[in-house]
Amino acid sequence: MNTKYIFVTGGVVSSLGKGIISSSLACLLKARGFRVTIQKFDPYINIDPGTLNPYEHGECYVTVDGHEADLDLGHYERFTNVRTTRANNITTGRVYQNVIDKERRGDYLGKTVQIIPHITDEIKRNVKLLGKTGDYDFVITEIGGVVGDIESLPFLEAVRQLRWELGSDACCVHLTYVPFLGAAKELKTKPTQHSVKQLQQLGIQPDVLVLRTEHDIPREMRAKIAQFCNVAADAVVQSADAPTIYEVPMRMHRQHLDDIVLRICAVTPEREPDLKAWHTFLEKLQSPKDEVRIALVGKYVELQDAYKSINESLFIAATYNDRRLKLTSVHSEKLNDANAGELLVEMDGVIVAPGFGTRGIDGKFAALKWCREHDVPTFGICLGMQCMVIEFARNVMGLTNAHSREMDSMTPNPVIDLMDEQKSVTALGGTMRLGAYDCLLAEGSLARKAYGGAEKVSERHRHRFEFNSNYREAFEAAGMRCSGENPETRLVEIVEVPGKRWFLGTQFHPEYSSTVVAPSPIFLDFIKAAIDYRESKK
Ligand code: GLN
Repeated sequence: MNTKYIFVTGGVVSSLGKGIISSSLACLLKARGFRVTIQKFDPYINIDPGTLNPYEHGECYVTVDGHEADLDLGHYERFTNVRTTRANNITTGRVYQNVIDKERRGDYLGKTVQIIPHITDEIKRNVKLLGKTGDYDFVITEIGGVVGDIESLPFLEAVRQLRWELGSDACCVHLTYVPFLGAAKELKTKPTQHSVKQLQQLGIQPDVLVLRTEHDIPREMRAKIAQFCNVAADAVVQSADAPTIYEVPMRMHRQHLDDIVLRICAVTPEREPDLKAWHTFLEKLQSPKDEVRIALVGKYVELQDAYKSINESLFIAATYNDRRLKLTSVHSEKLNDANAGELLVEMDGVIVAPGFGTRGIDGKFAALKWCREHDVPTFGICLGMQCMVIEFARNVMGLTNAHSREMDSMTPNPVIDLMDEQKSVTALGGTMRLGAYDCLLAEGSLARKAYGGAEKVSERHRHRFEFNSNYREAFEAAGMRCSGENPETRLVEIVEVPGKRWFLGTQFHPEYSSTVVAPSPIFLDFIKAAIDYRESKK
C-alpha cells in the first residue's frame, strides 16, 4: 500500500486540541495494525522551541535523537507509543533556513528564490520525508495555528498542492469550534461554516470535520454542517469535552473517525482496532481504590502546560496503581523553611521540577530539606536532582556554600558544574546535552529496583550542568549514593539516599518516555512508594 498522508488543520480558535485528535486517530490506526507517525508543522520563525520559555510555549519536549520539540510530540508518543524524531517537528524557521542554505550553496543558481515554489517545495519535501523511509503506512501532519493566520499560508498552500498530487493517498481533516451561546441557549454553526469557506478559498476541501463542543451537537445540526461544507454526512464528527484526553480515541472510534479516514484513503482495513490495553487503562481510571497526593514543586506551576509530560506521567502511573492522582502545585517562590511543613505535610510524595536560573531555587531547597528530614517519597528531575545534591551538600555534608555554577559562578563548592563539553558553547539554540543516553544502574540500588531490575536504561536529557564527579566520594561517604552513571563518560545521572523510603533524583527526564501502554517504570515505582507511605500514615 502507498503511504497515506493525513493533514489536520484547525479553524475558528486555537487550543481546540488538534494534537489530541491527531494522536487519537493515530492511536486507532495503529490499533488496526497500521504503521503510523505524526508530525507537527509550527508556523513560528524560531528554529525550534528550545529557546522559548514556558510562558510562551508550555513545555519543551525532547525526542530521542535530541531535538527540542513542541509539546504535542509528547501526546503523539503517549498515544501511539511510537518514538518521534527531529523529522516530526518542523518550524517556518527551519524551512527558511534550509532554503537559504541551499541558495547560498548555489542550488538555485540563476533563479529568484520565492515562497512559491521554493518554500512550499521545502515544506512538501519535509511532509514526505517520513513517508519515504518506508516505515509508515500513514503520516499524519498537523498544521499548527489557525486557518486565516498569515504565517500558516505557505503550509496550507503546500497541503493544497499535495492533496491534488496525492489524490486518494491524502485526506484532509479540519477541526473547528461550535460555540454554545448561553443567553440564546443555542449551539452556533456559523463560525464553522466560515472557517471551512476560508479553507476552500485557499483551495482545500476538507474531507472530514471534527467539531469541538462543550455540548452534544444534534444529528440534524451535523447534517446541516455537512451540507453547507461539501462533506459527507457521516464525516462530520463531534469532539465534546471529555473528562480525560485518554477517552478521546474511543469517542472518535464510536463515531467511526478511523473508518471514514480509511474509506477516503481507499484502504480496506483487515481488522477492527485492538484496544485492549487502552480499555484496561480506562477501566482502571474509572474505578480507583483511593487517591494519591503528590506535590509538584516548580516555578511555572500556574501554567497548565509547563510540566505537561510530568503531569501526564504521574497521571498514568497513578492510574496503573489504581489511584486517582491528586496533584497539588506548589510554587517554589512561595516556599521557605518556615512554611515547607505546612505546605507539604498532607502529601504522599513530592516531585521537584526541572528548570533554569535562580528564581524559586531556595524554595526547592526548602522543600527538599523538609522532605528528606521527614522521609517523604521524593523525586527530583534534572534541576530537581541538582537541587537534591546541593541541599544534601549544604545540610548533611556541612558545605554551607555549595551551589551550582549556573546560579553562583563563584561558589567555592560547585557540586553542580558546567559539563566539559559545554565549556566552549556560546550559542544557546540546540546546544545543550540533548536526547537519549544510556545509564548503568548500580546493583542493589533503588534506581535498579525502580527500573524492574534492569542493568541499563536509556533516557532523555536536556541540560548543561552536571553532578561534579570530584565530590563523588565525599557524597557517597556522607550517605548519598550515585546509583546511575553514563557508561562512556561516567557522568552521574542518578543519586539516591539509601535508608529513606524513596529519595531519588535523575539528571535525565523519564517523563518524556512514559506512554499509556508503556508507562515509565520509575514513575510507577515512585507512585507505589507514595501509596505505601500514605497507607503507613493511616
Ligand atoms: N538548568 C539545569 C542545567 O542546565 C537543569 C536543566 C533542566 O532542568 N532541564 O543543567
